[in-house]
Amino acid sequence: MTPRRPRYTYIEKLADRLLDEAGVTKAPVPVERLARLKGCRVVKSNLKEVSGILFRSDEGAIIGVNDGHAPTRQRFTIAHELGHLLLHAGQEVHYDKDYRVSLRTEESSTGTNLEEVEANFFAASLLMPDRLLRSDPRASQMDIENEEIILALSRAYGVSAQAMTHRLLRMARRSGL
Ligand SMILES: [Zn+2]
Repeated sequence: MTPRRPRYTYIEKLADRLLDEAGVTKAPVPVERLARLKGCRVVKSNLKEVSGILFRSDEGAIIGVNDGHAPTRQRFTIAHELGHLLLHAGQEVHYDKDYRVSLRTEESSTGTNLEEVEANFFAASLLMPDRLLRSDPRASQMDIENEEIILALSRAYGVSAQAMTHRLLRMARRSGL
């Protein structure tokens, strides 16, 4: 199998376009409204060990979210499933158990794993847009060791501290800091 690389640049643009379309200019990003804008119905229920489900049908898509999870994780799940919908055509039903593990294997992704990495990157780009973070004085300080700033930012953006740390590290690497 030919290894493919996650389409980072394309995915970031896709997320930016959606934010523009919805007129989002500040955090927290209204992820459920964005999902609805793309024709999805968001249903929250007890999915046991499953984090999220994406159903596609002729009448539109349904995103199922595990309502037993923390609100930040539910937001990330909705964005992740929306990413699958916009990026990965064809599957009628897609289940996600613990997609978070693939955050660690980003560099060596193939096949299904590649789709998970892409959906995670879409979710991160949508919930923590570069342009918002770059204009955020707290993020521009770039002190990844400062737990207080990370917590304040993760609260403002409605994401987990882990997701925010990951995003800020990536931004710092890309800026050559
Ligand atoms: Zn997934």
